[in-house]
Amino acid sequence: MIFMIVGIVGFQGDVQEHVKSLRRAGRSRKLQVRPIRRPEDIDGISGIVIPGGESTTIYKLLNTYGIYNLIKLECKTGLPVMGTCAGLILISKETGDPRVNGMGILNATVTRNAYGRQKESFMGEISVDSIGKMVVPFIRAPKIINADEDSIIGRYGNEPVILRKGNALGLTFHPELTDDLRIHEMFLDMVEGEGYTSTGE
Ligand code: GLN
Repeated sequence: MIFMIVGIVGFQGDVQEHVKSLRRAGRSRKLQVRPIRRPEDIDGISGIVIPGGESTTIYKLLNTYGIYNLIKLECKTGLPVMGTCAGLILISKETGDPRVNGMGILNATVTRNAYGRQKESFMGEISVDSIGKMVVPFIRAPKIINADEDSIIGRYGNEPVILRKGNALGLTFHPELTDDLRIHEMFLDMVEGEGYTSTGE
């Protein structure tokens, strides 16, 4: 069986929830989950998750700790990445907010907080290609306002809510706050399929 390390950007947001979901989804895969805060943490990982939280804060901390460009480069060269909510904003090309420079891993334009404030957060039923229906939480979620048509694999009504292209997976919602592991399983399949290991350089 393959041994793999998946990193989770560990400054702020729902880090522990992702750790739990990844561990549960990876139970039979010899998976190790590692928080990423410093350049040396990237060495040896085969996938990375950027969690939900506050994208302006996570962006600032990624830069303060000197790992924004490293992660961007690794993802551009094939490191599988899953960005949820704030994480999606960070891996998109256009964020519509000068305080958050998107990495451009997904060719997408997003709008932050597009459904309104915290009290406008909601549970929504989405349709996902090859999975089917899921009910998931949208928390001060962004909207995807432009994306490559062939990258859209999940919708809430007509709105795209999941993008997948190459080694990147981006979601406007929070699968880690549900018991449903199917999105994390999809990501671990991508990690296994890609067979990439970061040298952290
Ligand atoms: N509104 C947040 C942001 O723009 C994202 C919300 C979330 O990750 N739950 O950073």
